[in-house]
Amino acid sequence: MIVGVLALQGSFIEHVEILKKLNVETLLVKKIDDLNKIDGLIIPGGESTTIGKLLRVFNLFDPLKEKINSGMPVYGTCAGLILLAKEIVGENPHLGVINIKVKRNAYGRQLSSFSCNKYVEEFKKEIPLVFIRAPWIESVDEPARIILELDGRIVCARQDNILVSSFHPELTTDTTVHEYFINMIDETKL
Ligand code: GLN
Repeated sequence: MIVGVLALQGSFIEHVEILKKLNVETLLVKKIDDLNKIDGLIIPGGESTTIGKLLRVFNLFDPLKEKINSGMPVYGTCAGLILLAKEIVGENPHLGVINIKVKRNAYGRQLSSFSCNKYVEEFKKEIPLVFIRAPWIESVDEPARIILELDGRIVCARQDNILVSSFHPELTTDTTVHEYFINMIDETKL
């Protein structure tokens, strides 16, 4: 199995480190060819407007959208979540592949970055959550479903082959979410 990490901008190295820890082969995805070599893709945190622009500059936008729509597993953290969302409050969407509406920088200035721990039923475990100028998910429509809410805000969701979180598991030492994503890839390969 090769897991790609989109490496145009943002915190992609941290995802690679976690995947290495799990003994998973990784590929930094920067061009169209790379998309044909991978079994799943992580879109990292960073600045969604910048990554969105670079996807177009490097002609990755349409092929990536096609791959996701044809079932390639993808996991978006933070800016990655924003890039995958069908709706963004007050802005045009980017890839628009998961039925969620997101609000960018939703936690505002006061609480823009914070961390906590939370039990997640889907993972059957308590995990650390790190938020950095994070979005939250305002609504989730079928077939997407909520995986985690924190203080009444949706922060993790899934629709078939698409997983999104507004927090950054790659900035912790906990590998739970990445293991869950690797299972998603395993399931599509069966
Ligand atoms: N605020 C960023 C955006 O709107 C996301 C922040 C992050 O990825 N840590 O794209």
